[in-house]
Amino acid sequence: MRIARTLLELIYPKRCPICERIVLPKGAFICAKCYEELQWVNAPYCMKCGKPIHDPTKEYCYDCESKTFHYEYGYGMWVYDEKIRRSIVGFKYKNRKEYAEFYVNELVRGYADKIGRMGVECIVPVPIHKRRYRQRGYNQAAILAKKLGERLGIEVEEEALIRCKYTMPQKNLSDRERLKNLEQAFRVNQKRIEKYRGKRVLLLDDIYTTGSTIEACAKVLKGAGVDKVYYISLCIGRGY
Ligand SMILES: [Zn+2]
Ligand SMILES: [Zn+2]
Repeated sequence: MRIARTLLELIYPKRCPICERIVLPKGAFICAKCYEELQWVNAPYCMKCGKPIHDPTKEYCYDCESKTFHYEYGYGMWVYDEKIRRSIVGFKYKNRKEYAEFYVNELVRGYADKIGRMGVECIVPVPIHKRRYRQRGYNQAAILAKKLGERLGIEVEEEALIRCKYTMPQKNLSDRERLKNLEQAFRVNQKRIEKYRGKRVLLLDDIYTTGSTIEACAKVLKGAGVDKVYYISLCIGRGY
């Protein structure tokens, strides 16, 4: 087993999830220099959505002060900058599934305690539409959820949510248009969610920008009787 692994590493050496070069020393997941350049979300951040904010006297970002959400609160691990954006594009669209190992290691290192405090009994990845699944062959959030669940000893319900509407990329839409676009995009799989009625669930996604995806998922889960919904994502935009 160990020999097979070493051979595999010789043939397919690990690539850095940030610069894509072969990682040295062997066995590391990321170059030391790239690791230093990652922008971690540090205080002050919004107590609701987790976005980094500027004013340390404020509890919430501008958005969360004025909006209500169906989820309790959540965290983004890294600031969504150009480096991490490219890394996630590789993970999502270029079959760099091996990056999940590094991402989840960091989630566990930084957020295991925080997730513990949420008291969740299940991790639910944000689903992608079947058509997308067929094109891509995998759901990146589900890969992360499975690994995270394994590491933290929390059940993972990959099919608790179904993405029933094929939504176009949302980049050029306003907040309201996004939310409208996402309403009815998700529904629950009754059979799968039944046992989490009255319980707490952690949603997992790769990126949190406006929060409309997490909000749409949380709304549907709560509608199905889930008591509390939290979220965690690899990266997050900045707040105001
Ligand atoms: Zn690197
Ligand atoms: Zn916020």
